[in-house]
Amino acid sequence: MPLLDSTYVNTTTTSTHNPSSPHAATSTTPVGGGQPLPTVQVHALSAGHFSLPEEQFVFPFSPGSRRTVPSLCFLIQHSTTESQTTRIVFDLGLRRDLSRYSAPIQQHLATRQPLDTHPDVVTSLRRGGLGPEDINFVIYSHVHWDHVGEPRDFPSSTFIVGYGSLNILSGISHTSLRGGHSFFENDLLDQTRTIELLDPEVDNVGSNSPSYSHHADGHHAGEVGQQQMDFSQPWTPISELNLPLTLDVFGDGSLYIVDAPGHLPGHINLLARTKQRWVYLAGDSCHDRRIMSREKEIGEWEDAQGNTCCIHANRSEAEETIERIRGLERAGVEVIFSHDGEWEQRNQHRFFGAPSRQDQGGQDTEMAMF
Ligand SMILES: [Zn+2]
Repeated sequence: MPLLDSTYVNTTTTSTHNPSSPHAATSTTPVGGGQPLPTVQVHALSAGHFSLPEEQFVFPFSPGSRRTVPSLCFLIQHSTTESQTTRIVFDLGLRRDLSRYSAPIQQHLATRQPLDTHPDVVTSLRRGGLGPEDINFVIYSHVHWDHVGEPRDFPSSTFIVGYGSLNILSGISHTSLRGGHSFFENDLLDQTRTIELLDPEVDNVGSNSPSYSHHADGHHAGEVGQQQMDFSQPWTPISELNLPLTLDVFGDGSLYIVDAPGHLPGHINLLARTKQRWVYLAGDSCHDRRIMSREKEIGEWEDAQGNTCCIHANRSEAEETIERIRGLERAGVEVIFSHDGEWEQRNQHRFFGAPSRQDQGGQDTEMAMF
């Protein structure tokens, strides 16, 4: 059965399909036999748990209801035929030592109890035999406290953030963001090892933007052995999946950064082709499966000053992003949200370093791999 059901292709998309990846998102296997399509390995990493008050996330809500959720991170490994492997970690979860958060964030943590930071992302990597020194890139879905972890644990990694993230961290652009979750640390990242992606509104294939010249100066290119990764390429659509703005990380169609606006400026997701299936790492695009199923709406609340707050900085953009993700699920893509506790419970064998299902008498053919 084809992965993509043509029923769900948005035929109104006007942008052209990325010619460098004609196979883009239609299948995980080549048609008619031939070389296997490039894939990545994806493993989940446990990186702390905390609890969310339902009233700030869904509507209607049960007063006083809370649920404990993970802050999931992911290890993505890409290997070339020359056996060179590039390793990416998507998000770093909760910081092991809470006292190292800034004072406003520590105050906010009181509203997220119970909270547990063990194991953190470093411990979870070690369970599978890797350490921070093995990680070439850290890609942040966005810069909220429960995703940024402890960057100084990764002293040799290059950090990738979505457009607008650096202004939020520096305090330039978050004055309009409301709610106790909207505090940020201006010294979070070492700017000499941080790449901010280009503005998807400006630097896309339809824009004819002169800023493509970034391309040539190499400033935003990441080089790992012989693997060239260009983080200053223009944003490109995957029309088959109704994703208007994506970046082909390795240039081979195995991993895409996807613009996923609404939750926070710079919010990005990943679309990964694995041997078994397409996997979409959705970050904080949605916090509750009942919103995906339309059983609930996105919640809002009032702060002490009477301002209306929402967990998403731009609610209507967040709803558009959620609608696109519904389309991905209908097309057969597995969607994983950062705070999906049910997914975590069902998929313990897919965490890095976990025993494979085969070892446990299950059906998986490869160890703990998606
Ligand atoms: Zn968030």
